Amino acid sequence: MNAYDNAMRQLEKASQLINLDKDVLAKLSAPERVIMASLPVKMDDGSLRIFQAYRVQYNSARGPYKGGIRFHPQVDLDEVKALAFWMTIKCAVVDIPMGGGKGGVVVDPKSLSLAETERLSRAWIRAFKPVIGPEIDVPAPDVYTTPQIMAWMADEYGQLAGKPSLGVVTGKPLEYGGSKGRDVATATGGFYVLSEAIKEKDLEPKKSQVAIQGFGNAGSVMAKLLFKAGYKIVALADSKSIIYNDKGLDIDKVFEYKKNSGALSGFENSKEISKEEFFALDVDILIPAALENQISKDNADNIKAKIVLELANGPTSPEADEILYNKGILLVPDVLANAGGVTVSYFEWLQNISNNYWSEEEVDSELRERMIPSFQAILQMAKEHKTDLRTAAFMLALARIESASKIRN
Ligand code: NAD
Repeated sequence: MNAYDNAMRQLEKASQLINLDKDVLAKLSAPERVIMASLPVKMDDGSLRIFQAYRVQYNSARGPYKGGIRFHPQVDLDEVKALAFWMTIKCAVVDIPMGGGKGGVVVDPKSLSLAETERLSRAWIRAFKPVIGPEIDVPAPDVYTTPQIMAWMADEYGQLAGKPSLGVVTGKPLEYGGSKGRDVATATGGFYVLSEAIKEKDLEPKKSQVAIQGFGNAGSVMAKLLFKAGYKIVALADSKSIIYNDKGLDIDKVFEYKKNSGALSGFENSKEISKEEFFALDVDILIPAALENQISKDNADNIKAKIVLELANGPTSPEADEILYNKGILLVPDVLANAGGVTVSYFEWLQNISNNYWSEEEVDSELRERMIPSFQAILQMAKEHKTDLRTAAFMLALARIESASKIRN
């Protein structure tokens, strides 16, 4: 499965339903700019390695490009293009005045030392400096990129620019231009949306069983928030194993265990299950929070959850979307479910460029005020057009991109 093909199929479906202007559709059918670079990085042993890197600037109809940088061995251009396209849609879904972009490096970050990671991060900025900037294109963290990496990147950019330029990347540490609440924003936004979605399915937190795939920034914070709110998390997956306990996992203890052992495997009173079993679990809520292409026509039929909340980007194929919709499963799409991340990134950027910093309460209430009305607008659109939430979210976003595009020419 190719993530970009999936993205273009989603675009086609929604654009037909709103009769999208053909020129706007043409513009959205390809990225505005694709930049590739070879990053030379000195390894700790003195050797030189070259890393393939990308930045895709997909669409800027509504403002500067915005989107994360991924460090992963499976990064490829089609994946970065898909992610950049989804950022365009996502910013429009939550009505952020920014466009969509995404970057990546083909690297196994676990094979690098801290010093090598720093040199790679700085090399990325040196390569892409001419095409990014606080008013042009603003990267952020994604899979296996961290606030520390963002700090190195902002520092490198500032040195090259000859002036502090904190607004060049978001997701920075609090000590260096970061926003309060950014570290938990993706999951918090997803949590607010889920709190509305469960009402549609007559579910209650304390009676709901949850399975989460991915225990990184998005998945682990979500697990913590849900556990605190009384949901029962029965299954958790990371890249190495999947643990299950039908009585519920104590998430505080899981955090402690993973911190000490580096793994989920072997956690007390849990058994390991296969990926196939994970997706067939009899749970109420299923949360993919790892990588794309996890739910396909091969496993969608087995899904028993009443709600699928996509914290990951692109975890569901178009065929699987249709299967889930026909089964009556409420799928809350990535472009809404994980939009809390880019929303607080936007707040961080606003704070950087105005040099005026917000309290945690301000960030949280501004986030809530964007997430819940966006969910309600999309739900209403889906009901009106008798379609799924993803298509409705695309319809809403495309209409906004269309009006910005048309007013400009
Ligand atoms: P992360 O690097 O912090 O964590 C990724 C997690 O996925 C890790 O726990 C890893 O072990 C797990 N994982 C990797 N491969 C796996 C596999 N094959 N099976 C099961 N688990 C696997 O990344 P993240 O920031 O949490 O991002 C996860 C997803 O959420 C991505 O799709 C990302 O694009 C999306 N997302 C993240 C943010 C954010 O702010 N962090 C915002 C929007 C969307």
